Amino acid sequence: MKQVDTMVIGLGTTGAAAARALARQGIGVLGVDAAPLDRAGARWRNGVPEATLRTHDLPVPDAPLAIRSTAFHLVAGWGPQRLTVRDHALLDVDMPWLVARLQDDAREAGAELRGGVRVRGLARDGDAHVVELDGETIRARRVVDCGGLVAPSLAQRPDRSWLCVAAQQDRELADPEGARRWLEAQGVADGETVSFAGVAGGFSIVNLAVHLPDDHGPGEVHVLTGSIPGLGNPAGPVLLERLVAEHPWIGERRSGGSRAIPLIPPEPVPGRDGLVRLGDAAGQVYAAHGSGIAAGLDAADDLARVWGGGGDAWDFTVSWQREHGGRLASSAVFARYSAGLSAEDLRVLMRAGLMQPALVRDGLHQASPNEVDPRVLPGLLLGALRAPAYALRMAPVVAAMRKVESLHARFPDEPSAVPAWSSARDAVFQRLG
Ligand SMILES: Cc1cc2nc3c(=O)[nH]c(=O)nc-3n(C[C@H](O)[C@H](O)[C@H](O)COP(=O)(O)OP(=O)(O)OC[C@H]3O[C@@H](n4cnc5c(N)ncnc54)[C@H](O)[C@@H]3O)c2cc1C
Repeated sequence: MKQVDTMVIGLGTTGAAAARALARQGIGVLGVDAAPLDRAGARWRNGVPEATLRTHDLPVPDAPLAIRSTAFHLVAGWGPQRLTVRDHALLDVDMPWLVARLQDDAREAGAELRGGVRVRGLARDGDAHVVELDGETIRARRVVDCGGLVAPSLAQRPDRSWLCVAAQQDRELADPEGARRWLEAQGVADGETVSFAGVAGGFSIVNLAVHLPDDHGPGEVHVLTGSIPGLGNPAGPVLLERLVAEHPWIGERRSGGSRAIPLIPPEPVPGRDGLVRLGDAAGQVYAAHGSGIAAGLDAADDLARVWGGGGDAWDFTVSWQREHGGRLASSAVFARYSAGLSAEDLRVLMRAGLMQPALVRDGLHQASPNEVDPRVLPGLLLGALRAPAYALRMAPVVAAMRKVESLHARFPDEPSAVPAWSSARDAVFQRLG
C-alpha cells in the first residue's frame, strides 16, 4: 500500500492552493481530483479582490484572464434606484487559469497531482487514514478534504434553503449596436458591471458586464446569475436563460458553468485527528455574496503555516476560527438578512441612505460586515431617521453579526468546549429565523 504524508482530495482552487502551500512547507503531498486536472474546480469567471491574488503570491494577469471593471452599479430590482461603486478593486478572474496556475505551482513545489481519480472511501486506521481510490488504496498520515459540496468526508450537505445556485457565462456579442443601445438606456459605460438585485426573491442577482468590440477583439458579454431555489425562487441557470432570451444582442455561450454555493456559517471544527476540510466543503465562504475563492486560499495558506510550524489539525481549527471564522460567520448572518429583502426593500434602503456605496465596496472586498467606515455613520443615522422601520429591522442583524464575530474571536482552546460554543453560535442564527 502506498504511504503518503498528506493526501489532498479535490484540486479546485482550494485543494490546489492547499497542495501548493503544504508542498512549499516541505510536506509530502499526493493530490487527487475525480475530474481530469484541467476540469477541476470552478470553470467560470469569478470576482476576486485584487489584494487576494497579491496576498497569496499570485500574479495579476492581463485581460482577458483578469478583467478590471471600472464601476459596479447595484440596482434595486430592475431599477431605476441604484448606487454606484467606482473605487473597487475587484477583478473578474478566469478560474481555469487560476486553478491551472495553483496546480502548476503545487507540482513545482514537489506535490504529486493526479486527475480522473475519485476517492471512494475514507477510513481511520490507528493514527493514519486509509483512502480508497479507483483500484488503489493509499495510507495517509493526514487528509485535507477540499471536495466542495460533495466532499467524501462530509456527513451531509447543507440545507437547501441555504444553497445559492449560481451560473456564470462569457457569451459572444451578437449585435454590438443592440448592446450599445442597452448600455445607453441603462446609463452605464462599456466594461462596467450592472448588478440587478432582488429580481427573483431575496439574495438573487442578475449581473451583466458588456465589453464592446475594440482593437483587442470582437467584444463579449459576461453574465452572472444566482438565487436560492430552496426558498421557492428560479435557480441561477433559469435566470440566465431568461435574460439571454430577452436580449437578442447577447450571443452564443463561449464558456462558463453553474453550481451550488453554501451560504452557511463555517463548520465549527474544520480539522481534527489528522483530517481537515477546507473551502466550500467546510462552509468557508463569504456568504454575503457567495464568494469562496479568497476564503479557500486563506484557509489553505493558514493550514500550511500551522502544519509547517509543527501544529496539528486542531491547532489549525483554533487558528482559522479565530482569524477568519468570525468574518465569514458574520457574512452568513448578513446573507440571511439579505435573503429576506425584496427589490422594494432595496429601493427603500438605497433611497434612505441605509445602503451606501462605501458599504457595498467593503462588501465586495469581503471585509467584516462589522467594520463600518466611520465616515458612513452620519449617513446611516440620517437613514435611520428616514426609514425607522428598516433601521429597526436591521438592528438585531447588526447585533447578531457582532455576537458571532466575538464568539469566533473566543473560539475554545479545547475540543471539549466546542459543543457549548457551537450551541451559542447556533442560537444566534436560530434567533434570526
Ligand atoms: C456561477 C458561480 C459564480 C461564482 N462566483 C464567485 C465569485 O464571484 N467569487 C468567489 O469568490 N466565488 C464565487 N463562486 C464560488 C466559488 O466558485 C466556490 O466557492 C469555489 O469554487 C469553491 O472551491 P473549492 O475548491 O472549495 O471547491 P470546488 O470548486 O467544488 O472543487 C472541489 C473539487 O473536488 C473534486 N472532488 C469532489 N469529490 C471528490 C472525490 N470523491 N474524489 C476526488 N475529487 C473529488 C471535484 O471534482 C472538484 O474539482 C461562484 C460559484 C458559482 C457556481
